[in-house]
Amino acid sequence: MADTKWVYDFSEGSKDQKDLLGGKGANLAEMTNLGLPVPPGFTITTDACRYYLEHGGTPPELDAQVSEHLAALEKAMGKTLGDPADPLLVSVRSGAAASMPGMMETVLNVGLNDESVQGLAAQSGSERFAWDSYRRLIQMFGKTVLDIDGDLFEHALDEVKAEQGTDLDLDLDAEHLEDVVGRFKAIVKDATGEDFPQDPREQMDMAINAVFDSWNSDRAIIYRRRERIPSDAGTAVNVCSMVFGNLGTDSGTGVAFTRDPGSGAQGVYGDYLQNAQGEDVVAGIRNTVPLGDLEDIDREAYDELMATMSRLESHYRDLCDIEFTIERNKLWMLQTRVGKRTAAAAFVIATQLVDEGLIDMDEAVRRVTGDQLAQLMFPRFISGGDATQLTQGMNASPGAAVGKAVFSSEEAVTWAQRGEDVVLVRRETNPDDLSGMIAAQGVLTSRGGKTSHAAVVARGMGKTCVCGAEELQVDTKAKKFTAPDGTVVSEGDVISIDGSTGRVWLGEVPVEPSAVVRYFEGEIDPEAEDTEAIVRSVHRILVHADQKRQLAVRTNADTPEDSARARRFGAQGIGLCRTEHMFLGDRRKLVEKLILADGDDERQAALDALEPLQKQDFLEIFEAMDGLPVTVRLLDPPLHEFLPDLTELSVRVALAEERGEPDEGSLRLLAAVRGMHESNPMLGLRGVRLGLVVPGLFAMQVRAIAEAACERKKAGGNPRPEIMIPLVGAVQELEAIREVSVRVLNEVFEQEGCEVDGLLGTMIEVPRAALTAGEIAGSAEFFSFGTNDLTQMTWGFSRDDVEAAFFHQYLDKGIFGISPFESLDREGVGRLVEIAVQQGREARPDLKLGVCGEHGGDPDSVHFFHEVGLDYVSCSPFRVPVARLEAGRAALGGERAGS
Ligand code: PEP
Ligand code: MG
Repeated sequence: MADTKWVYDFSEGSKDQKDLLGGKGANLAEMTNLGLPVPPGFTITTDACRYYLEHGGTPPELDAQVSEHLAALEKAMGKTLGDPADPLLVSVRSGAAASMPGMMETVLNVGLNDESVQGLAAQSGSERFAWDSYRRLIQMFGKTVLDIDGDLFEHALDEVKAEQGTDLDLDLDAEHLEDVVGRFKAIVKDATGEDFPQDPREQMDMAINAVFDSWNSDRAIIYRRRERIPSDAGTAVNVCSMVFGNLGTDSGTGVAFTRDPGSGAQGVYGDYLQNAQGEDVVAGIRNTVPLGDLEDIDREAYDELMATMSRLESHYRDLCDIEFTIERNKLWMLQTRVGKRTAAAAFVIATQLVDEGLIDMDEAVRRVTGDQLAQLMFPRFISGGDATQLTQGMNASPGAAVGKAVFSSEEAVTWAQRGEDVVLVRRETNPDDLSGMIAAQGVLTSRGGKTSHAAVVARGMGKTCVCGAEELQVDTKAKKFTAPDGTVVSEGDVISIDGSTGRVWLGEVPVEPSAVVRYFEGEIDPEAEDTEAIVRSVHRILVHADQKRQLAVRTNADTPEDSARARRFGAQGIGLCRTEHMFLGDRRKLVEKLILADGDDERQAALDALEPLQKQDFLEIFEAMDGLPVTVRLLDPPLHEFLPDLTELSVRVALAEERGEPDEGSLRLLAAVRGMHESNPMLGLRGVRLGLVVPGLFAMQVRAIAEAACERKKAGGNPRPEIMIPLVGAVQELEAIREVSVRVLNEVFEQEGCEVDGLLGTMIEVPRAALTAGEIAGSAEFFSFGTNDLTQMTWGFSRDDVEAAFFHQYLDKGIFGISPFESLDREGVGRLVEIAVQQGREARPDLKLGVCGEHGGDPDSVHFFHEVGLDYVSCSPFRVPVARLEAGRAALGGERAGS
């Protein structure tokens, strides 16, 4: 420890030392070494912070090292800290390796006291400036270092303003501010029993320790837990000589971007505020002017700033954002970093930089993210307009939808048929609402989380959805909902919902369509001269990602339309064709017959009626996906989902009995519904269990698949069916179904005089299946991970309930940063996936492996599936391009979550 270096001069570090010097410190060092005008200073390392937190005090050598660097700083500036005649003042700022905006502390103007305030007044020629700087120091120091309630200072300042009959700081003159200083000092004395420290070095040391302490403030701890920032990383402290932008009209402060962070366009972007300090810009005391105006205000400083910006951009090979101050015509760089940007700018800038020779295409793919691409694919609200926000729910499926509120699926269909745009509002949705969801522009529910029915289906369709808006009281009978402020929205009132933010408005918010989706749909030629820059960039980047990725990308689709769209979006087959929607609508009666069948003959009759309908479904899908694999999953949901609601039916039967006209059919139905009622249907008679318990059901589905495949083949097509058994937990379940399936397949092939290659496999979505995957692989030619159910069963979280019930509290408390239903829990659920992959491949080396849970389209999870070596991911059609991009980024070693 004795020779540990705890303090680095800005001239000693570099941008690659973020872990040691923090992001801000590393970039200040980089700029200093580039010869840019950075006010001199030094950085105390994150190591020192870690030592402080561990030992409850600073390392013994720190004091001497700080003195040494302070002396060098004073020499460079030709001033002494707190010198009564001409004081050097410093800022003491936090700066961790990972950005933690606003989470930790900063103290400015350190070095001012009762004497040096006079020196500052004399040197600056402004008494007002000096006293204002001093009152800012006591206020920040009091709050941050001495832990005094900040409101006390605010109130005292307000009092003085009130006495002067103003509410503007700028109306206070030097004398008033001296009065404020007096009152602030009294607050300090009163709260701590001690005077405000007059010794400049003592101020500095106390401020440094306060920054260390702020690492463990409540808000910083919660932020770190959520963002997965290690709690022992610590923050660096930057001590920097103060420069002042508020010394007159020849001074000022501003922010700048090397390109437009909104669109990526090249040019001069930023804001400037004359005669002001950084905080004034944020406080909005006066309006800023566009950065371009600086050219007229101070030509020389402007030219130097432009040269500096272009230097920084070619050095960082990326868009940079900058904070600067001009003190009496002299430019100072206070901060730079690779700047945040919109999704559109990220794509445009990445390809611009390729064209400028600064980066290659691999790097361009790494620089953008699937989340950014997803944002570009949805229509967007342009602004709030004059609509009023009613509430904010969960952002379940992105996009912007405007329409008249309707409260039932039937109304949605009827209204849409007469050409009205509607938003379907429900407490929650169920499979019966599908037609309404298709007809509506968007879906709003007051219950259910991101994997609730509404959310999953909406995402699948690329339909805007806000779910779990619990503040809304939805009364579907009365056809209205009530917002927390008492506003009542009735059927026919226009509402706007934003699926990217979860916001809900009363009234119409203007929207614009996505050019990127029009390109995926084939409506825009990406290589045409007049095509928008964003479309050209997206195209180039995706083409490159496709060349580099190892994962194939399939889609979850169960209609010919969705299949065709997914194919246009780049899907290489279907990874999950859910068959449950094929049993709804008109066919529901047939399913009812199947369930109520009295004996084998009745059952077989019901199955025989269903089979040709099923076959037609598959024919169309095989045609849309000709030449590509189509994984058809046999029926999964509990049968009672196809029967009427228990309560409604009981009421109907009771009323009929009261009228003395009981009907035999309803009574039988009621008995069946009662008999099948389950407390936990998601863990009940579903999937393979259903296939084993209802004779003939799975055989009928397999027959329909085989017949459809033969028909396609005879018609010259190339069908590639893959039959998938859901919810298997034990190999015995799979063996039994496999036996029947193979028999049916052979029967059909013989009958048709035709053979179609295909696979028979299983979902891995029950933990037991993952743990016994070696055995299961003996009877399965492929595995597809059903990570929705696997997450539900691994955590013991009911996927239909927990997200709306308490996940927001888990997120607030930082238990997890994102719902495990949205992004794969690598350590738990992911571990099961790894075990199954390893055991499965050991037992059957050519086992095909994929994933078809919602995670298949989640950017972070795609990286995981790449790492564990799956063959493909499967996701809803609208996520196919996102998965293509992320699979490419994963193969190129791109970061999991981009900026
Ligand atoms: C799954 O469980 O991940 C899955 C894809 O099946 P479902 O969502 O239909 O249960
Ligand atoms: Mg499942």
